[in-house]
Amino acid sequence: MEKVTEYFGSMVFDERVMKATLSEKVYKSLKRTIDRGTPLDISVANAVAAAMKDWAIEKGATHYTHWFQPMTGVTAEKHDSFISPAPDGRVIMEFSGKELVKGEPDASSFPSGGLRATFEARGYTAWDPTSYAFIKDGTLYIPTAFCSYTGEALDKKVPLLRSMEALNKQALRILKLFGNDNVRSVRTSVGPEQEYFLVDRQLWKQRKDLVMCGRTLFGAMPPKGQEMEDHYFGSIKSRVAEYMADLDKELWKLGILAKTKHNEVAPAQHELAPIYKTTNIAADHNQLTMEVMKKVAERHGLVCLLHEKPFEGVNGSGKHNNWSISTDTGINLLAPGETPYENAQFLLFLAAVIKAVDEYQDLLRLSVATAGNDHRLGANEAPPAIISIFLGDELTAILEAIENDTPYGGTAKEKMKLGVDVLPQFSKDTTDRNRTSPFAFTGNKFEFRMLGSSNSISCANIHLNAAVAEELKQFADILEKASDFNSALHDLIKKTISDHKRIIFNGNGYDDQWVNEAEKRGLSNLKTTADCMPKICDKKNVEMLTSHGIFTEAEIFSRRDIMLENYVKTVNIEALTMIDMARKEIIPAVAKFAADTASAVAVKKSISAVACSYETRLVSELSQLIDAMDSAASVLEKAAEDLKAIDNIVAQSEFVRDTVLPAMDALRAPADKAETITAEDYYPFPAYDKLLFGV
Ligand code: ADP
Ligand code: MG
Repeated sequence: MEKVTEYFGSMVFDERVMKATLSEKVYKSLKRTIDRGTPLDISVANAVAAAMKDWAIEKGATHYTHWFQPMTGVTAEKHDSFISPAPDGRVIMEFSGKELVKGEPDASSFPSGGLRATFEARGYTAWDPTSYAFIKDGTLYIPTAFCSYTGEALDKKVPLLRSMEALNKQALRILKLFGNDNVRSVRTSVGPEQEYFLVDRQLWKQRKDLVMCGRTLFGAMPPKGQEMEDHYFGSIKSRVAEYMADLDKELWKLGILAKTKHNEVAPAQHELAPIYKTTNIAADHNQLTMEVMKKVAERHGLVCLLHEKPFEGVNGSGKHNNWSISTDTGINLLAPGETPYENAQFLLFLAAVIKAVDEYQDLLRLSVATAGNDHRLGANEAPPAIISIFLGDELTAILEAIENDTPYGGTAKEKMKLGVDVLPQFSKDTTDRNRTSPFAFTGNKFEFRMLGSSNSISCANIHLNAAVAEELKQFADILEKASDFNSALHDLIKKTISDHKRIIFNGNGYDDQWVNEAEKRGLSNLKTTADCMPKICDKKNVEMLTSHGIFTEAEIFSRRDIMLENYVKTVNIEALTMIDMARKEIIPAVAKFAADTASAVAVKKSISAVACSYETRLVSELSQLIDAMDSAASVLEKAAEDLKAIDNIVAQSEFVRDTVLPAMDALRAPADKAETITAEDYYPFPAYDKLLFGV
């Protein structure tokens, strides 16, 4: 058996390989580009490209691709081989610095939300040297950013890098005020916990809804769901364990720090968590993880479902975005620290996050909004669509003491002076117990739990980084002018707590009471994508995002349109799939069962004068359900037709929310009822029990 330490990162063009294959001069120059973003000289690019190509060919690669993350939410790639004809009819393998640095995919079909007219449709990809190139399936993958010719971002990586830079800039100003002159850069880190379902491939194939939409559009609850809670952290079945081991190995080869794996709450649901990384790398790695999860599943006769709600009535899948801010000197700015100074600095960053989350609730909410995640937010296991922060009782009490100038705790006699007193001890263990909070402080990081399992983590982190950068900027503007730093700091934190404490909620986020309470507090509750997405264009959001250079105004409007189009298209495909399944599969199957039962009645009655009350009642009930399905399908057909006639995307999304989705529910209800009284042999596709317990 190969050792993990030997094959970990074996498919990655990382520091080790760079050092071994590049001249010292080239290596140093590349390092400067990676660490500080200095432009790369073409001679250096040529040398790096040559080394990459030789290394890749040695590993069996024949092609290279610029790998990018367009607004579709999945990654894109176009493969070019290294071959180049030689005069004698043979080929040589070539790869130039120019090809490494810039690509021009004819990518005119990617969504741009009107940013590119078709006559100038080409976008270009630019190498992101901060994310290592890697080999997958015989191809050298080069992580790239995707832009239009006029420089607008057409992907999720460019704004993510911009948001990290904005936060870096503002955090450095704050750190300077605390005398941290040796810090040269500040970065956010993310550890995304990824949930997924595994179902048997043969069963999956038989369901159009799973194949076309990634989720079941019909399906009655089986006798057993997740109520026994015996799956969570339960022992892993051998077929799943083999899958997980294979997955770990593939991820490790790609240098992805897959760390934790376990069964989740729902049957057939599992989770994988990596060790956290710089956000940009974490985003690339999470995209790769999702791809590899699907690919490895195929080898095991399984399908990996990353949809947020594959099955109604059991938990959906999310992604927990564990997020922290740290310096290049190794200090986590969200850790309380030990000295009064560290404590005060921590409290200021904490205050910035609290204010950011309160003022930009809408941006955070919409950063995770998709048709899929709408089924999950507000459902029984997931955070509600209301954003709030969990801090834990002890930290909340400390903030209250600061706000009210009162002593903290029973023993402390003195009020706390920031920058002078040590923060009272609070136990980190108790901070992570609230699993119902959408945004929880977990001792030295925040865990944003609203992300859907299929979301790219980029959107959430773009908005989170941007909002926190904005608050740090406002804080720095005030504190840089202060004559008495400590008292200005104290006042600022006190005021921030008092102005924004409404966002702090330590109770049960799944409790119905909370919805009323949140409304009283004036917190927003944006239930669907159609409700929240247009808010990205609100003046305050446009001003904030443009002022930090995260997006241009045109980019913001284009993103709204792309996300709404995605929502409308997704639901439309689901609606059409439902009609198809109802008309071609479910109704005929149920009608056949009803007809067979009815002819049994006729036969029985011809023999003797029996009442046949069971069969008669059954046939009548089935017939009513068939009629109900038929008319609900007609209503849905009409809705899908009407949708086409609406020409404005915002109005379309509202129509989807108000008319199409309710019509889908109305069709599902009689179908699911019919499933429970139709003999299993007649049913055209595998039911929930097989899917959920069939692996
Ligand atoms: P859980 O939330 O299930 O209790 P853990 O506390 O082990 O799990 O952490 C979950 C994720 O948080 C992991 O991906 C881990 O690497 C990540 N994480 C831990 N510390 C940090 C940090 N300082 N910044 C960002 N992510 C972190
Ligand atoms: Mg967690």
